Amino acid sequence: MGRQLTQVAPGVWTATAEIWTSLTTLVVADDGACLIVDPGITVAEVESLAAEIHARGWRVEAAFATHPHWDHVLWSAQLGDVPRFATPAAVTAQARSRDADLSKADATAPGHDRDLFGRLTALPDDAVAVPWSGPRALVVDHRAHAPGHAALVLPDSGVLVAGDMLSDVEIPLLDVDAADPAGDYRDGLHRLEAAVTRHALTTVIPGHGHVGGPRELARRFVVDRVYLGALRAGLDAADPRLADPWLGEAHEQQLRAVSPD
Ligand SMILES: [Zn+2]
Repeated sequence: MGRQLTQVAPGVWTATAEIWTSLTTLVVADDGACLIVDPGITVAEVESLAAEIHARGWRVEAAFATHPHWDHVLWSAQLGDVPRFATPAAVTAQARSRDADLSKADATAPGHDRDLFGRLTALPDDAVAVPWSGPRALVVDHRAHAPGHAALVLPDSGVLVAGDMLSDVEIPLLDVDAADPAGDYRDGLHRLEAAVTRHALTTVIPGHGHVGGPRELARRFVVDRVYLGALRAGLDAADPRLADPWLGEAHEQQLRAVSPD
């Protein structure tokens, strides 16, 4: 089964996995060098991504994991032996949760090479961009959703690769183990919006869901802040994304973790 690559901006392509509408982003330089963000999810999908890259005469130079969750740190030998960058905090978190994450991967997307799973390289401590030869990929790190979460800003194409933020299908999912999950999330949204403004970004690629243009990008900040505000007030949000049962459950858990009692 082939994965269709879709060009969403100059030199920026996405592939959609079957589970959770997961999006992989490919940044392709003029010479065919590729930066892969969050390759996923099944073995067949990751392998077919590698096949498409090879068929187009491109070559993988580096990868980036937006955060340490299992579905963002997958890999195939067919993608080659290249650095797979993440923030230092994400690398530390992934090492800590590796065994549990491998179990989750085995349960949902069995057959991945365990040796290659989660083998991330920490970015230099104050790196502002992913070190690679292609178009600039600026790192916007924060602590919303997961430790060491980072979005990538592609200023040359006006794209925000948001990781597990700004989704049209998922409510804001907080890192409920953090000391201040809602505060971290508010700060993360603030950092993303500042980057959108500074670089005049017009396209958002979420980790799960659908690519959006400028109006949709603005709308997602609004609805995510409305959700977060309701959560902090201990209110049930009237958010259509909660129709999905697993997100309804996540919402109940977040209400317990965040709300004043
Ligand atoms: Zn995640």
